[in-house]
Amino acid sequence: MADYDVLIVGGGPGGLAAGQYSARAGRKTAIVEEMSCGGQTMIIDEIENYPGLGRISGYKLAQKFEEQAEGFGCEVIYDQVQSIEQTQEGEFRLNLFSSSVTSKALIISTGAKHRNLDVPGESELTGHGVSYCATCDGPFFKGKKILVCGGGDSAIQEAVYLTKLSDNVTVCHRRDAFRAQAGVVAKLKATNAKFKMNHNVISINAADGKVSSVTFLNKSTNEQYTEDFDGVFVFVGMDPRSEIVPMCEKDSAGYIITDNTMMTSVKGLFAVGDVRNTPFRQIVTAASDGAIAAHYASEYIDSLK
Ligand code: NAP
Repeated sequence: MADYDVLIVGGGPGGLAAGQYSARAGRKTAIVEEMSCGGQTMIIDEIENYPGLGRISGYKLAQKFEEQAEGFGCEVIYDQVQSIEQTQEGEFRLNLFSSSVTSKALIISTGAKHRNLDVPGESELTGHGVSYCATCDGPFFKGKKILVCGGGDSAIQEAVYLTKLSDNVTVCHRRDAFRAQAGVVAKLKATNAKFKMNHNVISINAADGKVSSVTFLNKSTNEQYTEDFDGVFVFVGMDPRSEIVPMCEKDSAGYIITDNTMMTSVKGLFAVGDVRNTPFRQIVTAASDGAIAAHYASEYIDSLK
């Protein structure tokens, strides 16, 4: 007998929505989360595009997701998944740091982790002026000269937040057009942020053990130059955290491939949210994935009878 009907790995919006739907459908459900529930939502200053809630902090939204899932009886196991195997009976066994648990169906919601710029100075200066989280570290740079690297939704949205803390924010992007959605770009353009388009960061330089300047290559002029900065915020994309399921089919970037029911190439194993090969990654799409996966995980369990 499996310990749970449905286990979910990762307590971000996709995992919490799956937990809510699964528990509400009467399935014995638990989320295994290694830190605290909420995922990347936790570090977003303000969310304005989650339907029905107007403007809300990421922290508050994550809290609401968790309360609602737990309200329907979804458990949260705080532990780290070391490996996943399928038993001879077709159940899933999650080997955790301190124990192991089994389930009839499994939903992977492990999200994605930030990518590095991979330039000299970046890793040494992480925590000393280089950051990957504006909400966490932005307040340390109040009134200081800040560089934001990247041109996607994260970079532009976080740059908007940083302009509330400093009137000296520059966004550096490697192309001449942003990847981010037009609405959020317009919001940034309405601030006094400066732009370095078609620029590469060559190195992040230090003085007294902290960030002091950044060396750029202006790709339009081929000019290389150095400019003083106090803080560098890097938002150059994400990589999927899909190593935990080597048995699933993935795309060339490592995102897990699913069908319309969120089922992977392994029967009974589902994937939702940022770890899935979906073209549009939002909190609302992760939540939607979670609802769909929970529904079909329940159907899958019925099919086992
Ligand atoms: P992303 O959309 O993949 O954008 C990454 C950005 O970094 C791109 O502009 C890319 O440039 C640039 N980049 C990548 N590698 C680089 C390198 N080595 N050096 C310099 N620049 C580099 O990643 P993201 O912004 O983290 O967003 C991840 C996902 O979450 C996306 O699907 C996004 O839509 C979603 N998201 C949504 C919201 C929202 O709706 N509110 C907020 C945050 C994130 P190129 O454009 O040239 O490739």
